[in-house]
Amino acid sequence: MNEILSQIAAPLLRWFADNKRDLPWRRDAAPYHVWVSEIMLQQTRIEAVTDYYARFTAALPDVRALSEVEDDALLKLWEGLGYYSRARNLKKAAQMIMTDFGGVFPSRYADIIRLPGVGEYTAGAIASICFGERVPAVDGNVLRVVARLTGCRDNVLLPETKKSVTRQLAAVMPDAAGAFNESLMELGETVCLPNGAAQCARCPLQAHCTAYREALTNELPVRIKKTKRTHSEKTVLLITAPDGTLALEKREAPGLLHGMYQLPNVEGHVSEARLTEILAEWGLQPQAVAFYKDAKHVFTHIDWLMKGWRVTASRKSGRFLWVSRADMQNAYPLPTAFRKMLPAEQTK
Ligand code: SF4
Repeated sequence: MNEILSQIAAPLLRWFADNKRDLPWRRDAAPYHVWVSEIMLQQTRIEAVTDYYARFTAALPDVRALSEVEDDALLKLWEGLGYYSRARNLKKAAQMIMTDFGGVFPSRYADIIRLPGVGEYTAGAIASICFGERVPAVDGNVLRVVARLTGCRDNVLLPETKKSVTRQLAAVMPDAAGAFNESLMELGETVCLPNGAAQCARCPLQAHCTAYREALTNELPVRIKKTKRTHSEKTVLLITAPDGTLALEKREAPGLLHGMYQLPNVEGHVSEARLTEILAEWGLQPQAVAFYKDAKHVFTHIDWLMKGWRVTASRKSGRFLWVSRADMQNAYPLPTAFRKMLPAEQTK
């Protein structure tokens, strides 16, 4: 058992009781609410999630409603949050809860982790917070706090480091497992902040902390990334028909953002002459073609470098959906990457 970690539960739980934020999904610790919020919070900050969470749970108040929602409506609720596979997995998991668990949210870690889109962290969070199971929930915040407390110099991006931290926390887990896990996350989110912003002066664990004692807060945790970023060039087209509608199409599976809608686009940054040929191949007779903007969108491992062209078409092609500007804004799930290519008056 790690000696430092064995001493943190009492001061941490006292601090949490006095300092925890009033977050909407904390109010009832219902597994559906904790689950939806934890999936939203993967890759997204709390401030950004709060409105989405309220909208999502108002439209889909329980597992059954989520299991039955149309894909377009689901993706619309998720629009702007990114990482859309999270939304698809939520629905798949809801369907699995309906078929395999009789519509009742599973209560054991071993069952929760079988749900699509649920990893060790999320399963640990739900099992401990909602059902009191004594299992850790280790995310990036918890890894940072533990690495600093224990002075661990292992690369926290490696799975073996996460496994080791999980084992160490499991060995010191108090009966109040949910509150212990939440308090570690909360400390990482509000006090033991990354990038040189640790607030050690108001930390309840200062007396136990190796990084504080040895002035290592800016060096820990160690994060060494392996993956290299790549980029993809795209030519994106804002095609207007004579009646003012705009061309839209659905992204097909498999691939990034599948099931969402998109502005017509082609790979590469193509010349105006090549663009005119492509438009003819699509059955469009452009009256005017003009470049209007550059934009970049950053995904996890890839950047899209987009060049936007406005096209005025003399007639519609059956290849596309033709939708009004208002519907493009409100009725179709359009990824943020393509929203960036809409004219200013169409973006919120
Ligand atoms: S003392 Fe500082 S570095 Fe240590 S756990 Fe607290 S905030 Fe983090």
